Amino acid sequence: MLEIKGLKKAFGSLEVLKGVDLKVKQGDVVAILGPSGSGKTTMLRCVNFLEHADGGSLIFDGKEYPFHNISKKDIAAIRQKTAFVFQNYNLFLNKTALHNVTEGLIIGRKMPKTRAEEKARAALEKVGMLDRADYYPHQLSGGMRQRVMIAMALVCEPDILIADEPTTALDVTIQAQILELMQDLQKKLGMAIIMVTHDLGVIASMCDEILVMYGGRVCERGTADDIFYRPAHEYTKGLLRSIPKADNMNEKLVPIGGTPINLLQMPAGCAFCPRCDAAMKICLSEKPEELRISDT
Ligand code: ADP
Ligand code: MG
Repeated sequence: MLEIKGLKKAFGSLEVLKGVDLKVKQGDVVAILGPSGSGKTTMLRCVNFLEHADGGSLIFDGKEYPFHNISKKDIAAIRQKTAFVFQNYNLFLNKTALHNVTEGLIIGRKMPKTRAEEKARAALEKVGMLDRADYYPHQLSGGMRQRVMIAMALVCEPDILIADEPTTALDVTIQAQILELMQDLQKKLGMAIIMVTHDLGVIASMCDEILVMYGGRVCERGTADDIFYRPAHEYTKGLLRSIPKADNMNEKLVPIGGTPINLLQMPAGCAFCPRCDAAMKICLSEKPEELRISDT
């Protein structure tokens, strides 16, 4: 359904993405995991053309579009089938909840106003916001604004939902409701989801594929089983050592040592090398090649 090949993006001399690949099939849920600053948001923004990628291409519905050469018409057509939930953007909503949710249907989907409002109200009800339909953003809490954003995305019934930490700002009950709603649409419409999340529980319960990013590269990818039971990259292993396990709550947690990566001072070799317990001399000078461990 959607494939990204060799996505590259730099902001001036800051090389943020250094060739990222991603493949999403219909109905797939793909999770993107990785420390802050690893390029997750930038990657999603490039996929939705909110950011100009420097290299790589996007394959959508069987057609390949180079990122540096894609027409406005093609962008509009791709956006027609995708919806985006931003990270930390909900303060920029500037109209009532109902207006915001309706607008996408009228402008993007060319729906008549009465029909659009009807659908918008139904979407607001699903995220528990119908009673706040006429509120402006400043009258809503952060979690409520996030729910409006999610209603805006889901109301369009997109083929692909791209969500950047959609539930990070929400309390656990609302979080569960929103995830259930997303999964519901995923099953009913065959919607695919690409989602950045730090919630390993969510990942384990609903994701088909996991991409672990570090320093602008995918450092490991696999199924949830691969990542949780057979992590191969030292960053992934470290991440799992730093969270509690339900069957052994007394175990001492081991944080990953060192400091998060500074893209302006990238090591010549492996990006994780300065924090890696298993680092060898070669890691200082050479970037590890991609290694295929199993079919998944
Ligand atoms: P993540 O979502 O994984 O936390 P981001 O993609 O937001 O990471 O950021 C990756 C890097 O790109 C960071 O170092 C950030 O400062 C930089 N960056 C992101 N957007 C911009 C921008 N518009 N201009 C300059 N640098 C940016
Ligand atoms: Mg981010």
